[in-house]
Amino acid sequence: MKTIALLGSLFTLLTVSLYAQSNCQIGNDADYTRQIHEFTTESFFSTELVDHLPSSSCVPSPEKFLHHIVGAPNVLDHVADINAYMRLLEKSTPRVKVFSIGKSEEGREMLAVFVSDEGNIRDLDRYRQITAKLADPRGLNDQDAQKLISDGKPIYWADGSIHSPETGAPEMLMELAYRIAVEDTPFIQKIRKDSIVMITPVVEVDGRDREVDIYMHHVHHPDEPRYPLVWWGHYVSHDNNRDDLGLTLALSRNMLKAFLNWHPTVMHDLHESVPYLYIMTGTGPYNAWLDPIVISEWQSMAYHEIEEMTKRGVIGVWTHGFYDGWAPNYLLSIANGHNAIGRFYETFGNGGADTQVRKLQPADTNREWYRPNPPLPEVKWSARDNINMQESAILFGMNNVAENKETFLNNFYLKSKRAVAKARTEGPAAWVFPADDPRPGEQARFLNLLALQGVEISRLDSDAQVYPAVQKEHPSDADSQSSSRSDDKQKPSTRDKDVGRDKDASHDSNKPTTVPKGSYIIRMDQPYSRLADMVLDTQYYNPRDPRSYDDTGWTLGALRNVKTIRVMDTALLDKPMQKVQTVELAGQINGSGSTYLINHNTDNTLATFRYKLADVPMEAAEAPFEADGVKFDAGTFIIRNADRGKVEAAAKELGITVHATGSAPRVATHPLEAPRLAIVHNWTNTQNDGWFRVALDELKIPYTYIADTKLRQTDHLRDKFDVILLPPAGGFGGASLSSAVNGIPNRGTPMPWKNNDEMPNLVAPGLDETDDMHGGLGYAGLGNLEQFVRDGGLLIAVQSSAALPIAAGMTQMVTVANPPGMNAPGSVLLSTIDDSKSPITYGYSDKLYIYFHDGPVFNVGMPQPNAEGATRASGRGSPTDPDVIQARAYQEPEKPTKRSPHDQELYIPEETRQFAALLLPSPAEMPRVVLRFAPEKDLVLSGMLVGARDVAEKPAVIDVPHGKGHVVLFSNNPMWRDETMGSFFLVFNAIFNYDHLDAGRTLPSESAKGQVKTGAEE
Ligand SMILES: [Zn+2]
Repeated sequence: MKTIALLGSLFTLLTVSLYAQSNCQIGNDADYTRQIHEFTTESFFSTELVDHLPSSSCVPSPEKFLHHIVGAPNVLDHVADINAYMRLLEKSTPRVKVFSIGKSEEGREMLAVFVSDEGNIRDLDRYRQITAKLADPRGLNDQDAQKLISDGKPIYWADGSIHSPETGAPEMLMELAYRIAVEDTPFIQKIRKDSIVMITPVVEVDGRDREVDIYMHHVHHPDEPRYPLVWWGHYVSHDNNRDDLGLTLALSRNMLKAFLNWHPTVMHDLHESVPYLYIMTGTGPYNAWLDPIVISEWQSMAYHEIEEMTKRGVIGVWTHGFYDGWAPNYLLSIANGHNAIGRFYETFGNGGADTQVRKLQPADTNREWYRPNPPLPEVKWSARDNINMQESAILFGMNNVAENKETFLNNFYLKSKRAVAKARTEGPAAWVFPADDPRPGEQARFLNLLALQGVEISRLDSDAQVYPAVQKEHPSDADSQSSSRSDDKQKPSTRDKDVGRDKDASHDSNKPTTVPKGSYIIRMDQPYSRLADMVLDTQYYNPRDPRSYDDTGWTLGALRNVKTIRVMDTALLDKPMQKVQTVELAGQINGSGSTYLINHNTDNTLATFRYKLADVPMEAAEAPFEADGVKFDAGTFIIRNADRGKVEAAAKELGITVHATGSAPRVATHPLEAPRLAIVHNWTNTQNDGWFRVALDELKIPYTYIADTKLRQTDHLRDKFDVILLPPAGGFGGASLSSAVNGIPNRGTPMPWKNNDEMPNLVAPGLDETDDMHGGLGYAGLGNLEQFVRDGGLLIAVQSSAALPIAAGMTQMVTVANPPGMNAPGSVLLSTIDDSKSPITYGYSDKLYIYFHDGPVFNVGMPQPNAEGATRASGRGSPTDPDVIQARAYQEPEKPTKRSPHDQELYIPEETRQFAALLLPSPAEMPRVVLRFAPEKDLVLSGMLVGARDVAEKPAVIDVPHGKGHVVLFSNNPMWRDETMGSFFLVFNAIFNYDHLDAGRTLPSESAKGQVKTGAEE
């Protein structure tokens, strides 16, 4: 698109007509209209709202700028052109105003385009202030509110293409903006007069440009295999709308900021997947923290649009199924979490602008109660059909909101008001972040995240007694030593198992509890109380409910290993406290001397600190110790004879407290490294590695991003890296050995992933490129990885990727079980530290909540006979009442030996030792279970887990020696969607101690082996 030249010529043309909308000649754009008809495959995929386009003597249609109509076959537009067209509209008519709402990771601009009548656009700021007042009704009486409601205008925000292969909406939104600005039917006039339309044409701007490159390459080279969209956004793919809890991606932050600035009444995401138009309501269970008003708003809006479309003979418009409405994910949760209405469409996309015959399966075409007019088994589908469906339906939606503007604004006001009342109606009164949390760094980061969400934070002026105190507390009760203590003199000693645990008053609701001075209070009498309660509370998901669409549990306090206390006592609200905008930690050095000690509390800023001073030698304490009367945990960072200024500057910047001492600590230590780290990706799916990259980038931890194909081509990996991390593999074939070895199968001509004239947007700094995407890891790459570990490297394999080193024979005595009955669609589970001397557990107390999603479930040790009694022979009795052998004296069967899971895993029967000595690993090569899932009764904190028995007490994190190196396997995902900060340090500990993972190890006893030998000689 020759944007610049065209803009120039139009500019001259337009200066004349600027702000003279009333003098514009409005007619019918006959040629555009003719093409709409040409590209629409069936009349039942259109309505009278979109089967034509008006012309304007002042405002250029999309075709004038783009040289194709919206929905034309075989063409899509880049972000720069879409944004330029929106700005051209702004210059051409006083009915359009464009704001930038921020930039993406790769520097592309996101827009908010406002379209309304001239007066509304002129007074945009006044309307913005009205919605802001309705959003925070504290101090507003009902009478004043009603005046605001009658003066105000609802804002309807439509946003396109957060999912890059869903390509129609950005095109449609250009035509929609033009149509609403220009068309003079009473229907459109109503939208213009009584509402304000807000449009973000492209949400995932980086992914859009890559997708358009790839699609246009396909158009120009139809006989070549189509490129996969290896990266959508800079970090993650489809998960870019699963970032509402973590707010890590630029697009989430930009959209949230725009929301909090404008308080749109409706936020409407435009997706493309299922036929032909799914209008979101969902199957339920619905998110339990939302005001019930919004639930009925979803329904009434959906049914209005379904009815209007169906009345016009449009086929295949439906609601209910497809999605549940439970997890506070998806972009639309920004609105739902802030008392507005968040909703979405799924139209039928073709992953581009091809016209194709599409065949459907019965699941999509069956008539259901929620789909009385289902899609057809086979239909020719075009990009224009997609545009027609989206644009018609959303126009009905916008018209509905304009027609009922006072109802919608009043509901918004009511929801905000009831959110403020929450503290004293349904409760809780508040959530407390106690001042004595052993992880002040993560506490501060978490509070600042809530502040970013618009949640108000207060800080308690003095100790407060609350009664009855605590309903529920996280992390686990066993780790709650400090919830009711007002002093923290006994810090640091998070590992001390006897400190105040279980005995303190917080567990007895008949006694008051002290919330210490300086604690942070999230009051539930504020407008966004529901959002805060939603993220801090625990979730129960009944397995009998419909299949969950996403995570079923997300309790962020637990996942971030930050203490939070749910307080029901409204007396807390009357205690003196001060609002704080952000929480800043003052880093410092206490004491004097040339040895610096930093207690390991698993605050992730410690990882930043290690790499910030990468050239400064540091050591890790291998056990707890005392210095100058202060207790320090195992893993404490010890820095000897460093430049005090340098240490102090880093500590201050990162909010870390350092203790300087003149005496050398008496504790065994080993070097705490700042090693060379590689993160591996493949060429089919980078979704999961993105969450690792974004976490590391935020914490400024350097790494090399390397392709599986590169591992295949690189001998001596150990010369280049110390630690190689395999994030959970995705894509076709998942993480099987076969899919890892083959990757994109090696056939056809080389397929480079590099920027070129045709595809200039594929690679950005921080992403990867190659001359050929074919070939995967290959046998050579697998061999190189194995050699890397044998040479002393550390391979970390997470979740599905753990299958690779296990299947490849790098981890003896570890197998993967696939429990057939297990269903774990994303839950928060409790784990216990199984080996507190392993460096991987440094800084942790004895329990940790972790994120678990569908396994894998690991078994360690010899295969175990079924413990359920299935091994007894057929005979008399029952599974527990033993058999009796006839015609000989009864002998009671031998009782099976009871062993703890830990002991059982290391147990090798004597006979096995004897017969399989050649095959068994030496004790030093045996797996070391570091973290273990809790017993069944304690296992689930939040979300659903069917088959808990299959997971309970199984290993969660395993360290397996191999050659001179180690393989560390994760069953949980320690870096998930920037929500699991509490488990990040399991990874960092493994990295920093990669060369000393055997520290503190007790080898399994070899005595049994000797006995077997003796026996054999007899
Ligand atoms: Zn989508």
